[in-house]
Amino acid sequence: MRSLDMRDLVDKLAQQRVLGREEFKALMGCDDDYLFARAREARQGAYGKQVFMRGLIEFTNYCKNNCYYCGLRVGNARAKRFRMGLAQILDCCQTGYRAGFRTFVLQGGEDPYFTDEILAPIVAEIRQTYPDCAITLSLGERSFASYQRLFGAGADRYLLRHETAHAAHYQRLHPRGMSLQNRKACLGHLKQIGYQVGCGFMVGSPGQTVSYLVDDLLFIHGLRPQMVGIGPFLPHSDTVFAQEPAGDLRLTLNLLAILRLMRPDLLIPATTALGTLHPNGRELGVLAGANVVMPNLTPGDMRQKYRLYDHKISDGEAAAECVENMDRRMKAIGYELTVSRGDPICIA
Ligand code: SAM
Ligand code: SF4
Repeated sequence: MRSLDMRDLVDKLAQQRVLGREEFKALMGCDDDYLFARAREARQGAYGKQVFMRGLIEFTNYCKNNCYYCGLRVGNARAKRFRMGLAQILDCCQTGYRAGFRTFVLQGGEDPYFTDEILAPIVAEIRQTYPDCAITLSLGERSFASYQRLFGAGADRYLLRHETAHAAHYQRLHPRGMSLQNRKACLGHLKQIGYQVGCGFMVGSPGQTVSYLVDDLLFIHGLRPQMVGIGPFLPHSDTVFAQEPAGDLRLTLNLLAILRLMRPDLLIPATTALGTLHPNGRELGVLAGANVVMPNLTPGDMRQKYRLYDHKISDGEAAAECVENMDRRMKAIGYELTVSRGDPICIA
């Protein structure tokens, strides 16, 4: 497609918020930076120059699932396992709060140890200690009743990537027993309960096609989540996909920009995976329309063990150090790290 036609397509998406399948496919292959400029414009209109920071607490790397792409999968006997207790999680929150974080993201594998009886009091304790902070959970698939109990205990947001909106592709990435149908049901339950919901997918996961990515975009268009997390697939040496290539940088950035044009109000992280794929990946992500960064509050020894993929980057040991680094990086590209809960805005 000629550059002029490509720009027409970008303008059309900015105006109409959605495109036809073939148009989406063409835009994914866009090599004109006009796409990023329009995405920045859309983000500027909604959120200005603010980049929100979320403090990531990776509190358990035990997982009962066996997703073929992930280093935490139960079948990875070489993974060194850890889980934090209440005191350690609260320590992370305290350091994070002092460093300026107002959102804590509690992420982990699907660890059967963390029953509702154990988890709900932890969430309630964080809620009570930090009433001005948002609590985000990212713990995979749980029952409706469990999501409801955790919401009641004080959680406000939930991140559950759908991973792929194509059922056969979902099966290529997961063993029997996991299904796209259940993922979608969980996302529906989370919305119904009242969580701010995040879905998302890996770019370049094995077996993915451009057509499947269109399915992802249309699924997101229909779901209307508040957040979308996308990042490149990165291989892990102890998984089924050890020999598979990493996701493509430009395609990931194009998809970030497309999502921003579809939904100027979305909260979209420039992910750690993007920062691992390219030394300036997170800056490039923000320049393509992302508006969230998630520095890591997990203590160093455990952070090492939370290895989803090979060569995962770390921004520095201490929370304050992470913030300073990120602040410097964002300022260098003309953006500002913001101390706030960073709730989504509402745009009709
Ligand atoms: N267990 C929860 C779940 O699966 O939703 C939360 C933790 S899980 C590690 C968070 C996300 O990491 C997944 O949704 C997946 O997209 C991403 N991830 C896992 N392995 C990855 C890999 N090899 N490359 C890039 N992202 C990966
Ligand atoms: Fe477990 Fe999540 Fe990794 Fe799947 S992606 S193996 S559910 S931690």
